[in-house]
Amino acid sequence: MFVKNRKELESIMQSHLCNRCGSCVGLSDGAIAFKDKEGRYQPHFVKEISPENLSRVLTACTGKYFNFPEYRTKFYPQSSHFHLYSGAYESISIGHAVDENIRRTGASGGIISALLIYLLEQKKIDGAVVLRMSPEKPWLSEPHIATTKAEILDAAQSKYTISSVNEILSQTAQFAGRLAFVGIPPQVQSIRKLQSINDPSVKNIDYIFGPFYGNTLHFSSVVSFLKTYKIKDYRTITKLYFRHGEWPGNMRVETSDGKIAELKKFHANYLIPFHILRNSLYCTDLSNEFTDVSGGDAWAPVYEERGKGFSMIIARSKKGRALIEEMQAAGWLNFNYIEEEEAITMHSHGYDLKKRGAFIRIQFRRLMGKSIPDYGYELKDFGMKRYLMEVIISTMFIVLSTPLARWTVEQFSPTFIGNLFEKSRNIWKKSTYNIKREQLG
Ligand SMILES: Cc1cc2nc3c(=O)[nH]c(=O)nc-3n(C[C@H](O)[C@H](O)[C@H](O)COP(=O)(O)OP(=O)(O)OC[C@H]3O[C@@H](n4cnc5c(N)ncnc54)[C@H](O)[C@@H]3O)c2cc1C
Repeated sequence: MFVKNRKELESIMQSHLCNRCGSCVGLSDGAIAFKDKEGRYQPHFVKEISPENLSRVLTACTGKYFNFPEYRTKFYPQSSHFHLYSGAYESISIGHAVDENIRRTGASGGIISALLIYLLEQKKIDGAVVLRMSPEKPWLSEPHIATTKAEILDAAQSKYTISSVNEILSQTAQFAGRLAFVGIPPQVQSIRKLQSINDPSVKNIDYIFGPFYGNTLHFSSVVSFLKTYKIKDYRTITKLYFRHGEWPGNMRVETSDGKIAELKKFHANYLIPFHILRNSLYCTDLSNEFTDVSGGDAWAPVYEERGKGFSMIIARSKKGRALIEEMQAAGWLNFNYIEEEEAITMHSHGYDLKKRGAFIRIQFRRLMGKSIPDYGYELKDFGMKRYLMEVIISTMFIVLSTPLARWTVEQFSPTFIGNLFEKSRNIWKKSTYNIKREQLG
């Protein structure tokens, strides 16, 4: 199902249903633009759009419509395995890039960067769509077609503020050669919609990879982080990392006047409830269900204690599985297969957020008479305790995103807040452990 007309598109663009994937901007030939990337980061019409481009944008938009079962059947017709939480797949494993530099540079095990570099060196692709930090505005991310190993590594690591990778669709059709594409789930879903109508913008995309996706944050998270370090002007940023150093890494900012602000990733997570993009709370795709290969963090004490970086690797297509096996045989990747149950348990917190929480929040939206996304499937009947838990979580997100709450948290030292957040989160995780794991799998 596609967006019906411009009026419906505009209502999606102005609502929490817009996931900022960037397709509308990339396909509109300048008619649609993001006006305020440091602010609300919403797309707007800035000039008249041709009927042909409007039709492509309506098709590509995934804010309201993306039918999971339909596209699963279309793109994974003979899938060996399927789980409602993790999608169609061929294999699940835990591993990392063998090359220490790629592994260290990556967000977790450097798997996604290794895949891209391998394909490039084997001449199976000529370029890779990645998300790098902008050379002109180093506090913002931007999509880029990387054509060298150095460019792929420069774009490695997760960026936790809003990204609109599909703006690149204005360039992909003109690119002379084959491409791999990396994106978070809403971006990948849009690429799949365009592939299903043979749109020229995606005709040279041969491989699709993507990170798992818990949530993303508004740029206000960076501004707020800086304030806690008494850095007033974000335009002094020369380097912004979200996963700097050894896995799981640190959020780190370097400024032109020599200041460095750095905080453990798990502590910097305190920014999430204050600055979360509301749309990520309505997205039901944690493990990037429509890629060839998806990569997540291998969150388990046995790996976390070892540091260095471990990824969960889900090969979804036969092509994706053949690729990772070829790379293992060639000494590029090191991984071991795991069972579905272990994989689901490892990300039970994330699956609960996405496959239960998101559907409950969508129900709340429906009760409030607001427009809701149609994913072609719905999970429900989770038990009263889970609904009550969601009332607490949703209330917390609303209260903590107010200007007063944001201002209050900025008055404390980041180390203190980070510690407090990590401790409270651990208590919350323990007390909701049973509710979240009920009927998992
Ligand atoms: C917003 C976000 C939320 C995430 N949430 C979770 C989570 O809840 N649980 C979990 O296990 N893992 C999550 N991840 C994935 C995790 O952080 C790692 O990206 C993943 O483990 C892959 O690691 P890697 O070392 O193989 O990737 P790398 O080798 O570092 O490559 C990452 C690739 O992803 C691209 N990329 C980075 N950020 C973005 C972005 N925002 N949009 C589009 N492309 C991007 C980069 O350009 C690069 O090509 C999230 C990632 C992101 C970006």
